[in-house]
Amino acid sequence: MSQNVRADPTSAVETQADPYAITDKDLVGEVSTPICAPGHDTIPLDVWRKILDPNTRQSTGYVKRERMRTLEEVFQDLHKRLDVVICDKCGHERPRKAGEYCSKHKGCGGEYSWFLDEYFHGPDPLERTNKNPVPHNWRWIACYPVTGGSEGHYVHVEFIVDNGKAGLEHVRLALGKTFKGFDHAAEMARRCARLLGA
Ligand SMILES: [Zn+2]
Repeated sequence: MSQNVRADPTSAVETQADPYAITDKDLVGEVSTPICAPGHDTIPLDVWRKILDPNTRQSTGYVKRERMRTLEEVFQDLHKRLDVVICDKCGHERPRKAGEYCSKHKGCGGEYSWFLDEYFHGPDPLERTNKNPVPHNWRWIACYPVTGGSEGHYVHVEFIVDNGKAGLEHVRLALGKTFKGFDHAAEMARRCARLLGA
């Protein structure tokens, strides 16, 4: 009897093996810079390794993807890049220091405010607990502002997987909220799209 079990389309991310991953662990060399990163400043979504020659154990010059990074790993990088303070007077910005609150910009006398004024949460708790990776077959990265029902604006950051007839699957990377208005939410979304190479 055939053991050909059809994958459940609702769990396609978990069940479809990454066709690009290294399968022969003996050939895995040191970590390499991602070769197809869309830009220098973007956050890597996967980990690449140098491939060794099985006889000489020297690098062959080839690289191959070892794995997709986990959603949580990518989110932590994204959060770090967005966690900046911006001067309300001159627009100067820099990374936020731990515990920093209402500090002055000595250069111009303005006051720094947090870019992430309300929250910027990561992947769904279950995805985080299970250390789920970025879906290797993502088709689009969607980063968009949404006007809240009662107050505030939200920022959705998602990988979208096209499962054909089963429809589109949204895998959440982050969910942000701001009270600084629609334009600020749109700016948060724009930065996410840029940083992720959308
Ligand atoms: Zn300033």
